[in-house]
Amino acid sequence: MECRLCLHAVLEDASPEDAALAFPCDCRGSPVHWGCLRRWQQAQVQRAAEAARSADEARARAATCEVCGARLAAAGGRKRPLAERAVCRAHGGEGKVALRRVPTLSRASRNFSEFSAADGQEVEVLEQDDTGEFFRVRARKAPRYREQGSAALAEGWIRHICRWSLARCAARLRPPCQRRGCPRLTGARRGTLRACRRAPPRRT
Ligand SMILES: [Zn+2]
Ligand SMILES: [Zn+2]
Repeated sequence: MECRLCLHAVLEDASPEDAALAFPCDCRGSPVHWGCLRRWQQAQVQRAAEAARSADEARARAATCEVCGARLAAAGGRKRPLAERAVCRAHGGEGKVALRRVPTLSRASRNFSEFSAADGQEVEVLEQDDTGEFFRVRARKAPRYREQGSAALAEGWIRHICRWSLARCAARLRPPCQRRGCPRLTGARRGTLRACRRAPPRRT
């Protein structure tokens, strides 16, 4: 197997740790040497500094695979997601939340994909970033953010503005959920959930 960064199987003149091949993201079948990955991450940080981007954005770019969008896990392995499904909540006027390419607070357009998750849409939670501020989610029939149309499936990072789904809440909290506004009490339809969350969302 070859490293996807240096295109060699063996990394010459490197420590055993640096020369080891690893799969730090969701790019299955395409490993990297730890040494090459570290060099690529340093280059990302340097490039961001040269372009006068925020430290937050530099960190997020260095920690995210450009190909699959997953977090590049350190040698310790991957963190499990907190839940499998969540409900997206949009606070803005658009009624949707753009999916980000990298988990950063920077609102520069280059950090956003063209797809979004709609307010009230149920999304699959794939993972959480190190700060706990962002989730990588998979949305079906993801609407385009600026144009008409949608994608059958889109993945991206979303800020901590999701609320946990009814299914999750119902499994967790028996007898009936006591939380204010929970659809189990109010009878609201699934997909328009407003409450029943495990942790209060942080507002922007
Ligand atoms: Zn390499
Ligand atoms: Zn990847």
